[in-house]
Amino acid sequence: MPPTRISDYNRDQLISFQAILDIMDKLSREEMEELKIMARPYLVFRQRLDDYHSRYFSDYCRKACFDTGLSACCGFESIITFFSDQVITVLGSEPEDIETMIETLSRSNNTRNCVYTGPNGCLWKVRPVSCAMFFCHEAKVSVFESHPEAESLWGMFLDQERDFTWPTKVVVFDEIEKFFLRYGVSSPHLYFHRSPGLLKLKSESGLATEETVRRKP
Ligand code: SF4
Ligand code: SF4
Repeated sequence: MPPTRISDYNRDQLISFQAILDIMDKLSREEMEELKIMARPYLVFRQRLDDYHSRYFSDYCRKACFDTGLSACCGFESIITFFSDQVITVLGSEPEDIETMIETLSRSNNTRNCVYTGPNGCLWKVRPVSCAMFFCHEAKVSVFESHPEAESLWGMFLDQERDFTWPTKVVVFDEIEKFFLRYGVSSPHLYFHRSPGLLKLKSESGLATEETVRRKP
């Protein structure tokens, strides 16, 4: 049977997941623990964000999208993911969850939806931050009108997200990349070390841009 043709998006996602799995396979228990400790404050943030979503948005989203099958949230084919998003979801997944993701990415996506949309929702155990932080304009207008306190809480979440992903200071999404670079990782998603925009921001903030990441022997 001829090999399945997959999109560049699927291929790049597979490259990153495989690179993460290959390196994790060689890490000691202490090194895995180090990674988990790095991710912990971010996971606390994500739990709070999930609680916020359940409290304020889930009713609206269910009626607007899930009951009508019109969800715009997962209706994009190529959602942006960071390398650290992928590491963090691998850390929070069982081997069979990762296997399902790898199998899904290895097939061509014949839908108009995100490739990660599974029969029971998103296949990621910890969804990419760009998905978790997305609420459509209509949902925000409606929810903020009926719950004004949700608007100021949302502002707080936007600020907190920057503590993890906006490299004007040391942030965990950058640090996790650095951790894997020490093991010689190669991935199309190392934006904190490859994206001109993020490198410029780091440089303007006095952070090292061409880091001498010391490779592990
Ligand atoms: S945020 Fe908007 S598009 Fe996404 S599920 Fe809710 S109502 Fe639908
Ligand atoms: S990664 Fe998950 S949450 Fe994000 S768009 Fe795809 S299916 Fe939806």
